[in-house]
Amino acid sequence: MVLGALVFIIATRNSKPAEKAGSNKIKVVTTLFPLYDFTKNIGKEKVAVSLLLPPGVEAHSFEPKPSDLVKVNEADVFIYTGKFMEPWAEDIVKGITNKKLMIVDASQGTKMIPGVFHDDDEPAGSLDPHIWLDFENAKIMVGNILHALEVKDSASMDSYKQNSDVYIKNLTDLDSSYRTALASCKGKEIVYGGHYAFGYLARRYALKYLAAQGFSPDAEPTARDLSMLVEQIRKDKIKYVFYEELTSPKIAETIANETNTKLLLLNAAHNVSKDQFVQGASFLDIMKSNLDNLKVGLGCP
Ligand SMILES: [Zn+2]
Repeated sequence: MVLGALVFIIATRNSKPAEKAGSNKIKVVTTLFPLYDFTKNIGKEKVAVSLLLPPGVEAHSFEPKPSDLVKVNEADVFIYTGKFMEPWAEDIVKGITNKKLMIVDASQGTKMIPGVFHDDDEPAGSLDPHIWLDFENAKIMVGNILHALEVKDSASMDSYKQNSDVYIKNLTDLDSSYRTALASCKGKEIVYGGHYAFGYLARRYALKYLAAQGFSPDAEPTARDLSMLVEQIRKDKIKYVFYEELTSPKIAETIANETNTKLLLLNAAHNVSKDQFVQGASFLDIMKSNLDNLKVGLGCP
C-alpha cells in the first residue's frame, strides 16, 4: 500500500514540469526547526523552505515516510543537523536519486562535545547532537547554509550574505545577553526533567547541568538517576526544575512533587508545536524566553 502510494506520487509529480510556473525560488528541505529558521532568515523571499519534521513531532523518535523521501528528492537543497542527531537522514541520503540535489551536513566545522551518559541511548564515541544550543556553533551552521545557497544561486549571493550577516549579529547579541545575565546568578545548576539537551549551553555559560535522561527522550530514566537528582536538589536547595518541550513533563513533575520545587520550561527548539509554527515562532524568540526562565530559575539579578 505504502509503496503503491509512493509510485503514484512519483508518477504524478513527474508528469509536471520540475519547477512550478511562476516560482523560481530555491527549494530547501530541512530536518529540524533551527535549520528551517536559519534558512528562512538567510534566504528570505528567494527560497521556499520546508520543515521535514511535522510540527509538534518529537525529533529523536521521528521516522521519515516514503513521501518525505519524495519531498527531499524534489528539492534543490537538503539540510540536516548531522549523523548524531538524525541517524535516519543517512537513509534518506542513500535513497536520493536527484543528482542535482545539494546535501548539507550543517554540523560541518562545529565544535562538538563528547557524550556523558554512555548508556544504550548513547553508544561509545557519540557526540552531543544538540549543537545549535551553543550559539557559536549556530553561527557555523548559518555559515554552512549560506555557502549552500550561494553555490545554488550565485546571482543572489549578495542578498544571502547581507541577511546572514544580520542573523549572525543577532546570534552575537543573544550570546552577549546570555553571558551578561547568567554571570551573577545565585544558582549555577540547571536541573532538567528531560533528556540531555543543554550540555552546550551550560558549558558555554559555566553552569552545571543535570538531566534525568541521556541524549534522547526515548529512554526512561532509572530510579537511581531520579533519586540522585532529588538528592542533589535537596542538598543544593534548588527551587526550580526545568522541563522540556513537546513531550509529557511527567518526569519533571515527579521530581518537582518529590522536592517541592516549581517548574519552568527550557525549550531546546528541536521542533515547534503546530500553534507556534502557524504563529511564526522563531529560534531567537524561543532562546530569549529560555533566558527569561533561566533568570527566574537560577535567581539572576
Ligand atoms: Zn534532543
